Amino acid sequence: MKKPIGMAVIGAGIMGLSTAYHLAKRGNKDITVFEKGLAAQASTGLSVGGFRHQFSLPANIILARESIRVLKHFKEIFSFDIGFRQDGYLFLAQQEKTWTELLTGIQTQRRMGVHVDDLTPGEIKKRWPYINTGDIRGGTFGPSDGYADPYKTAMGYYSHSLKMGVSIKENTSVFKILVAKNRISGIETSEGVFSCSRVLLTAGAWTAGLARTAGIELPIKPYRRQVFLTKTFGLIPKPVPMVIDTDIHFYFRGEEPGLLIGKSDLAEPSSFKTHVDRNFLEKVIEDAVHRVPILCDAQILRGWAGLYAVTPDNNPIIGPLTAVNGLYCAAGFSGHGFQQGPAVGRFLAEYISENAASFDLNPFRYDRFSTGKENREKRVV
Ligand SMILES: Cc1cc2nc3c(=O)[nH]c(=O)nc-3n(C[C@H](O)[C@H](O)[C@H](O)COP(=O)(O)OP(=O)(O)OC[C@H]3O[C@@H](n4cnc5c(N)ncnc54)[C@H](O)[C@@H]3O)c2cc1C
Repeated sequence: MKKPIGMAVIGAGIMGLSTAYHLAKRGNKDITVFEKGLAAQASTGLSVGGFRHQFSLPANIILARESIRVLKHFKEIFSFDIGFRQDGYLFLAQQEKTWTELLTGIQTQRRMGVHVDDLTPGEIKKRWPYINTGDIRGGTFGPSDGYADPYKTAMGYYSHSLKMGVSIKENTSVFKILVAKNRISGIETSEGVFSCSRVLLTAGAWTAGLARTAGIELPIKPYRRQVFLTKTFGLIPKPVPMVIDTDIHFYFRGEEPGLLIGKSDLAEPSSFKTHVDRNFLEKVIEDAVHRVPILCDAQILRGWAGLYAVTPDNNPIIGPLTAVNGLYCAAGFSGHGFQQGPAVGRFLAEYISENAASFDLNPFRYDRFSTGKENREKRVV
């Protein structure tokens, strides 16, 4: 038997929860979030919670500004302490081409009112003496970038969504999106069939598989990303900003009890693997000790892996999937979805509710891939 609902949101990560909250806040009734596991335990809960204004695409800088505004005031708005810290992001360039790209990026960021410093290797060494700057051309530092706890942030949206009447069904898998005459007619789940006229896909790395059940091919692929946490490490004074060795996709930042270190392995093929690879840890340690020689005395406490949902231009697909009336998407965040969650949830809810948003979603339309209007984000970690 079909159970009628107003709108189905598939996936209870930061995107599904933030959008469900904003939809309810805008007066939409009868929203149900379906989650195959437990809320915020997939990419959102496994993320390292970084946020930054330092993007190359202006649309991403607008999203960053709105999200950081919300994260900064999260405690007042949601009564949740998310451990918001603005310890900064330092992007380093080894190659001349990378340095030129970083400098071009900060021109855009400064034009949009973001404070970013460009630093010589000597200036970097003076501020962070533990960094090996021998092979560095320069760096850009955004003092208002930082990090917050992604799980707690998502749970803030979770609890406030519940208060606003959203129903959240955990341990409920969606198998199929049902379409009749190019319109959404419902979803098939492990709890039976639900009829509805609107579906929002916020299923992270699993989104392309779900969209395919509605006859739509989305260019979103899963990639494993691994992170490691060191034991207490007193040799580097805190706060330690997020330091990104741009050319080799290696990064580290302060975290309790020591430091977080990670690296994106761009050579690894797409997969849904989420186990930690000890051989890869050796590569990460090699990069870490090269950039911060004193880290040879650090010990690894634990490691984990989660999935990036990556698109060909490293930007998400946000908005209606117009081939099927009533189907919407917010997925493919290519490693920067935690920080875009607060802004995207708000703007997408405006669009779904009023067919117009106070932010132009066009750069993130899904048909940009078929019309040659891709917008590459160059600053990816
Ligand atoms: C190691 C790592 C570090 C990261 N660091 C950062 C960072 O510093 N800053 C940043 O902004 N981003 C970071 N990210 C990226 C960020 O985590 C993601 O972009 C973001 O969490 C995406 O949120 P989401 O809600 O789209 O996806 P998810 O959090 O993955 O949520 C999707 C949900 O959908 C559910 N689902 C899937 N299929 C179904 C189905 N068929 N039925 C029901 N439910 C389903 C899943 O179980 C999941 O809970 C990182 C990611 C990783 C892995």
